[in-house]
Amino acid sequence: MTRTILAPDALGPTVCVGEILVEIVATTIGEGFREAQPLIGPFPSGAPAIFIDQCGRIGGGAAMIGAVGDDDFGRVNLDRLRRDGVDVSGVAVDPDFPTGSAFVRYRADGSRDFVYNIATSAAARFGWTPAVEALAGRAGHLHVMGSALAMPGAWTVIEKTADAIKARGGTLSFDPNLRKELRYDAETEARFARLVTMSDLLLPSGAELERAAGVDGEAAAVARLFELGVGEIVLKRGGEGATCFQPDGTRVDTAAFAVEEIDPTGAGDCFGGAYVACRRLGEPAETALTYACAAGARNVTARGPMEGAGTRAELDDFIANTRRMS
Ligand code: ATP
Ligand code: MG
Repeated sequence: MTRTILAPDALGPTVCVGEILVEIVATTIGEGFREAQPLIGPFPSGAPAIFIDQCGRIGGGAAMIGAVGDDDFGRVNLDRLRRDGVDVSGVAVDPDFPTGSAFVRYRADGSRDFVYNIATSAAARFGWTPAVEALAGRAGHLHVMGSALAMPGAWTVIEKTADAIKARGGTLSFDPNLRKELRYDAETEARFARLVTMSDLLLPSGAELERAAGVDGEAAAVARLFELGVGEIVLKRGGEGATCFQPDGTRVDTAAFAVEEIDPTGAGDCFGGAYVACRRLGEPAETALTYACAAGARNVTARGPMEGAGTRAELDDFIANTRRMS
């Protein structure tokens, strides 16, 4: 039996801060976007929004802080979040700027390339408002996505929300979620490092583990992060599953589920949303890891970044009927 290191769900919802986007996906693989081609969308998206949608869908308390434009791209997001049980009282509707967007095409080697409109869209125009302050005052946990750090206004909101939540006994998780298209300056790097030390739970993927620790080698990086005060580390390994590390040396490995990958976007975000929700609902790391791997795997079977996010019943069904990779 492993200890739950996150504040219980009953303390208040998990809050996620950051970009809310629509995603428009090329349906053909290759060079893309240099001439006209078929596209599908708009899908509700943005890593923080995907995370919180899965968190709500699996039955965890969930709330979002961000902004959308006063347009149908905004409404497609608000409708989805509300449907899945996410409190959107902290989502501002910006009267002047359009909802943020991400256009994506997949390359022949399986990699993906985005054309973003985030910094100059409503997605980046959120701040510390009375509605956000009220939400932070009743929330139990803050989840931060590294991608949100690229937005100028995000830091103030993250810092104040973290302070309010920690003051009432709440906790914090951090997914570095580095995107090669988003550049970080020295100040953002410093904030990244600060978030690592503030984290009760860290959810890196691949090389983000070593980057967060500032140390090479998986074991050395894990040891360093525990020295920095992190309470639990869950390393995402894509098709190879995931590992939970705890400071007392406990290690839990989970194999991935064998699925046909249609659209890899959002796997890590759904994984995180399911993991945080399960841990806050008091489930042991083993159970939370199984649901998290199922949420990530189920999401890649559907086209669109959050179209495969599962309810508890859908994930139970998926787990019962899907083979594990060995
Ligand atoms: P993202 O690209 O969304 O940021 P990530 O890099 O943070 O993702 P991944 O490790 O790619 O995270 O995916 C998270 C989890 O989802 C994995 O640990 C795995 O359990 C599951 N998953 C992802 N891709 C696959 C796949 N192709 N097959 C099976 N499971 C998968
Ligand atoms: Mg990720």
